[in-house]
Amino acid sequence: HAVIELQHLTKRYGGTLAVDDLSFNVEPGHVTGFLGPNGAGKSTTMRLILGLDTPTSGQALINGHRYTSLRKPMREVGALLDAGAVHGGRSAYNHLLALARTNDIGPRRVAEVLEEVGLAGVARKRLSGFSLGMKQRLGIAAALLGDPGVLMFDEPVNGLDPDGVRWIRDLMRSLAAEGRTILLSSHLMSEMALTAERIVIIGRGRLITEATVADLTSRY
Ligand code: ADP
Ligand code: ADP
Repeated sequence: HAVIELQHLTKRYGGTLAVDDLSFNVEPGHVTGFLGPNGAGKSTTMRLILGLDTPTSGQALINGHRYTSLRKPMREVGALLDAGAVHGGRSAYNHLLALARTNDIGPRRVAEVLEEVGLAGVARKRLSGFSLGMKQRLGIAAALLGDPGVLMFDEPVNGLDPDGVRWIRDLMRSLAAEGRTILLSSHLMSEMALTAERIVIIGRGRLITEATVADLTSRY
């Protein structure tokens, strides 16, 4: 049965329908691409799935239950959202340690994920000196912290150099090969075609189509 289920998910901000009656499922153990132009509602949908925002109507379920900010979700779902937003004088290590503590995750795991994303050498450096690429890696470390079976990455290759882009692609593939379920957003079809098996396309908050990559490339 589906890992992520959206049922008539709707989010209105004032006069804007950011997410408009969106229903689709994300199947286990695949990379599902979530494609749409800027402003289509991808980030809002991910925030709603994580319980960081409340739907106006409808619901999003992970493994059959609804998320709220009251739960400690990092063991079940990890997400990279707006990686550029982290800032301040804390070190990368302390940033992850604080997240680990509130989610009952031990400090040894912090060192592991820093190693995994290639930030072990700068773990004690302040976030204020981090480039966007380093912040993306840190956001991925945060997503992996709880060793979750479900991962969501919002535009993970944005702002990365070619090496960083290749690294992210390889990471997505290896996480999927481990049996994890991944929802990966992008506004670039070319990016999706390289990593995703299935694609959900949205525009103005609404579902446009759902198909396998093989299907889409033979159609267009
Ligand atoms: P995407 O991630 O696909 O670029 P978003 O989910 O960020 O799209 O945005 C979808 C729409 O909702 C846009 O029109 C955006 O301006 C609007 N929106 C998103 N968040 C807010 C918010 N907190 N307040 C008001 N409008 C918002
Ligand atoms: P705070 O508001 O304390 O600075 P955050 O808003 O960063 O903390 O996170 C609040 C909670 O949301 C975290 O304790 C965690 O359970 C969840 N959370 C934060 N980041 C992630 C993430 N990348 N993946 C999954 N859950 C997260």
